[in-house]
Amino acid sequence: MTRAAIIRKNAAALAPAPHLLDYEVERRRFSWDAVRAELGTMPGGGINIAWAAVDRHLGTPVRDHVAFRFLGRDAHCNALRNDSRRDITYAELARLTNRFANALRSLGVGRGDRVFLLASRIPELYIAALGALKSGSVLTPLFSAFGPEPIKTRMTIGACKVLITTEALYRRKVASIRAELPQLEHILLVGEGGARTSVPGTRDLATLMEAASDAFEAERMSADDLALLHFTSGTTGTPKGAMHAHGAVVTHYATGRYALDLHPEDLFWCTADPGWVTGTSYGIIAPLLHGVTSLVDEADFDAERWYRLLQDEHVSVWYTAPTAVRMLMKAGPEVVKKYRFPELRFIASVGEPLNPEAVWWGAQVLGLPIHDNWWQTETGGIMIANTPAMDIKPGSMGRPLPGIDACIVKKTDTGFEEVREADVEGELALRVGWPSMFRGYLNQEERYRKCFSGDYYLTGDLARRDADGYFWFVGRADDVIKSAGHLIGPFEVESALMEHPAVAEAGVIGKPDPMVGETVKAFVSLKAGYTANDELLMELLGHARKRLGAAVAPKEIAFLPSLPRTRSGKIMRRLLKARELGLPEGDTSTLESGA
Ligand code: AMP
Repeated sequence: MTRAAIIRKNAAALAPAPHLLDYEVERRRFSWDAVRAELGTMPGGGINIAWAAVDRHLGTPVRDHVAFRFLGRDAHCNALRNDSRRDITYAELARLTNRFANALRSLGVGRGDRVFLLASRIPELYIAALGALKSGSVLTPLFSAFGPEPIKTRMTIGACKVLITTEALYRRKVASIRAELPQLEHILLVGEGGARTSVPGTRDLATLMEAASDAFEAERMSADDLALLHFTSGTTGTPKGAMHAHGAVVTHYATGRYALDLHPEDLFWCTADPGWVTGTSYGIIAPLLHGVTSLVDEADFDAERWYRLLQDEHVSVWYTAPTAVRMLMKAGPEVVKKYRFPELRFIASVGEPLNPEAVWWGAQVLGLPIHDNWWQTETGGIMIANTPAMDIKPGSMGRPLPGIDACIVKKTDTGFEEVREADVEGELALRVGWPSMFRGYLNQEERYRKCFSGDYYLTGDLARRDADGYFWFVGRADDVIKSAGHLIGPFEVESALMEHPAVAEAGVIGKPDPMVGETVKAFVSLKAGYTANDELLMELLGHARKRLGAAVAPKEIAFLPSLPRTRSGKIMRRLLKARELGLPEGDTSTLESGA
């Protein structure tokens, strides 16, 4: 296959006909109000994400469709074994989420209360997420690979009242921090393999569910009432709780249609974990809004298993991530040759830069190019995308979806100014007004205000737009690290390292990595009386891993006699990175002498 700069599409030949057939026409005629009207409101008024996703379908044939197909870790271990597989229809999901909402109500939990989830991709997590939304509670999913420290920080900032987790995760990650979480009133546990639990100070979720009625009317919320609190990281300070309201569901619906092109007969597989925003917006909400069946696989990445699932589960729309694609590429052609994917009709990816090579690999090996799209926790939904009918420029994130105005801005003396010319690098900005825009960072008004300039939300990403209106990712404007698609704040890692008695100062950078984008590397200087040696290195790596969890902890730690700081005392991560990569050091005029 020749590698032209553009992959041309023949939109007329695509079946089913893509929702976004004519980009310009659809952008012109698009209105958020029309989407809002199409989605409708609850009988008697009000909106609730869980009502729109589940109960809205009950009077329609969708009620008998499978909403989720859950595969346990041991399902599909070989082609014949299918024992831990559970299908839940929309009607069943409505009943189960009602039960969960009633269980919360029986504990006095409802509107505005903070409910956190910490679990792998098990059915209970999905039922609890939707049930909590139904009850009017504000939902926060946590990544199950976090260690106790990130869990404690987020539960404290978010004033978590109820935690739903598994017995194993509770014992490993929560029991040790529980005494430091005074606002936490209830812990509901899922037992291993469906077993009941009896851990002191917690409740058994299955027992609560059993006692609860399966009739519940979803709370009528307003479009501005809080629904979700998703944590994200910045360069400095604690993690930020991005607040999203029930009205965000309008974006989830529109983007499920345009960017993922969901049709009712689709078998959709979003590989993201609900501990991150993609796994919630597109692993739970958007596919349900469109009445499709979602595949949920509990197991971790495994190339052979993933190809088998794509084939045997007849996946038609697949939403995954660049790291996963690169891991499939690395697994080599022999594995993929054993499988066929005749039903697969659309592949999209998000979360980090997608190499042009990966787009082409999809076209050659899976028979379909991979369609990159862009968004972030704060935007609540996909903003820029390559859609099925759109020509792809490999390496580009695509064009803004209908209803989204994106542009490149540059800082001037008086604020930010839009750059009208093509191919100029600057900060990616979005005109405010789409329904899933975050409503603030919890208790951090100043940090929220700084994200805006006039009518524009400043994304913190550097990008350029070409003459055809395609956007190209350039890099982050700040020091946050993207590793395997997960956003990591260097400050959180530095703080955990500083808690070790040997560490005097710590600076953390993202080190480019061909597979996962970036890995976390830390530089530390030691307090007097400590010696840099292999033993201490292993101890520090272990300390960080235990506190932060595998997803966040540094993979590498290097000792330095001292870290470069500005005269005002800030560690210069930029300089650490430049030195690590052998790049020019740039402006060092603010560097403290001798560093
Ligand atoms: P998160 O808030 O964790 O979803 O991370 C959002 C960030 O991930 C964005 O601000 C970008 O830096 C990065 N990102 C998301 N999608 C893409 C993409 N398609 N290409 C490059 N970077 C991306």
